[in-house]
Amino acid sequence: MTADRRNCTPGFATRAIHHGYDPMSAHGALTAPVYMTSTYAFESAEAGGAMFRGERAGYIYGRTRNPTQALLEDRLAVLEGGAAALALASGMGAISALLWALLEAGDEVVIDETLYGNTFALFTKGLTKFGVKVRLADFTDPAALAFGPNTRLVYFETPANPNLRVIDLAAVAAAARKVGATSVVDNTFASPALQRPIEHGIDVVVHSMTKFLGGHGDLLAGAIIGPKDIVEQVRGHGLRYLTGATIAPLTAFLVLRGLKTLELRMERHSASAMAIARFLEGHPRVRWVAYPWLDSFAGRAIARRQMSAGGGLVSFELDGGVAAGMRFMNALRLVTRAVSLGDAETLVQHPASMTHAQYTPEERADHGISDGLVRLSVGLETVADVLDDIEQALAATGSTN
Ligand code: PLP
Repeated sequence: MTADRRNCTPGFATRAIHHGYDPMSAHGALTAPVYMTSTYAFESAEAGGAMFRGERAGYIYGRTRNPTQALLEDRLAVLEGGAAALALASGMGAISALLWALLEAGDEVVIDETLYGNTFALFTKGLTKFGVKVRLADFTDPAALAFGPNTRLVYFETPANPNLRVIDLAAVAAAARKVGATSVVDNTFASPALQRPIEHGIDVVVHSMTKFLGGHGDLLAGAIIGPKDIVEQVRGHGLRYLTGATIAPLTAFLVLRGLKTLELRMERHSASAMAIARFLEGHPRVRWVAYPWLDSFAGRAIARRQMSAGGGLVSFELDGGVAAGMRFMNALRLVTRAVSLGDAETLVQHPASMTHAQYTPEERADHGISDGLVRLSVGLETVADVLDDIEQALAATGSTN
């Protein structure tokens, strides 16, 4: 170790691989054990009672805690720079558990107008059923960030699904703080390897760990990272807010495995996505391309301020709109037609008929989700092979109308 490294905090990848686990605590096992148990033995009847009253630390029952889950939560907190984390059964499980814990009838929430379709539906159809007032705003417009005294929570994604619009984290955090509202951002598209919203003043980060954090398309999981009181409120201390969206121990282990290569994978996803975005931008059949690192991208300056690379998602529209997009997707041979993102495989989907079908056509038009938009999640294959496939599929889409 060089003298100037001696007092440094470990880097992102080092923490993603080592933080919170000492092999000597588990027979020298290099990989942390998976605790496949639903319940835990109490040393005595009195000890069990003391744990229930919160007077003694320890594990009680698998719905609230498990040691494999606890290690994952420790690692997530340190990677996002939060005080605490909670790992859950899916991204929607995390988002709904957070909102269930924080909101009451009569509260107002302000959401950005572009969100993942099910999140949008949870706010506009789900929460409104329980008397929560949901107001939509364009978070890229600074005037929309003038939240009111009744605003309890503000919620957005950056980059947003599916059009990748980028929102200024520090500006939203400051505007929310001014009125005492909790700021929440979905950091699924960037992952903490490329963007850490808490460092920009955001209160709470949520994730679909199904995507880049898991990284291999073989699990569903979600996470909440933020202040300890909020995280523990969601976990159900006092058993008031428990939704039961518990992560399985084996799933927690798979996410821990994914985290070990997160930084490496995000570098590759980003480099390949940039090459593909540039190729698409120069293609005569492509109307427009959205990718945070392109010089032509509207939110480029903000993206470069708060992200360290552009990430793995590219959105674009072909000349010929929806029909051309469908022909293009059907002509692909290597790229897989599937929703989700962040996997080793490159995936393509059509948000208007798939992940964002919960929006009405008018809402999509108002919210910048054009019907011809095609979303690519660039995987980890040899990028030349993906480019060849895209090129042949573009050639096969035929005429431009
Ligand atoms: N947030 C974003 C940005 C997403 O893209 C998704 C799913 O596609 C979710 C949340 C929901 O996550 P999950 O599918 O793990 O429930």
